[in-house]
Amino acid sequence: MTTSIHPAVDNGVNPGSEDFSGGTLYCKCSENPVAVSVSGQCAHNHVCGCTKCWKPEGALFSQVAVVPRDSVSVTANEQKLDIIDPSATIQRHACKDCGVHLYGRIENTGHPFYGLDFIHPELSSDEGWAGPEFAAFVSSIIESGANPEVMGDVRTRLKELGLEPYDCLSPALMDAIATHTAKASGVL
Ligand SMILES: [Zn+2]
Ligand SMILES: [Zn+2]
Repeated sequence: MTTSIHPAVDNGVNPGSEDFSGGTLYCKCSENPVAVSVSGQCAHNHVCGCTKCWKPEGALFSQVAVVPRDSVSVTANEQKLDIIDPSATIQRHACKDCGVHLYGRIENTGHPFYGLDFIHPELSSDEGWAGPEFAAFVSSIIESGANPEVMGDVRTRLKELGLEPYDCLSPALMDAIATHTAKASGVL
């Protein structure tokens, strides 16, 4: 049996289309869903094993990407949104009724990722979102209850899918964080 990672990648990774210009994300409520419009392509899409990202029922990983915060606007039922943990670095705006996270926002202007919002592209039925490129925080799925013995199979499957497994973020994103920190401290 093939190890299931996330429904969006289990049958292969869809790379998306280069001229995609955005779409609308919806929560899972059958009535009056929250709608969030994103006016552009996402970047750094990846599957994430952390315990904080919203995951579909039964999935080992979430699928999460970033978009400029200026490109994100709530277009319906904003009153159903609540911030899961206002003290967290990433403020995850979730639907109070179905629990889906519509977008995660960083309000600390000194944070390396300030200006970017985190979204789950699968909440949009629009075709063309850039596909996942890597797997982040892979070891953390154990913290959500995955059996440590499945980790070999999970990493093998991620590599088969072309999603290089990392136990933090990808080297490009870790370098971006370190560069930001070095500039802030004056060593760069
Ligand atoms: Zn909802
Ligand atoms: Zn995560």
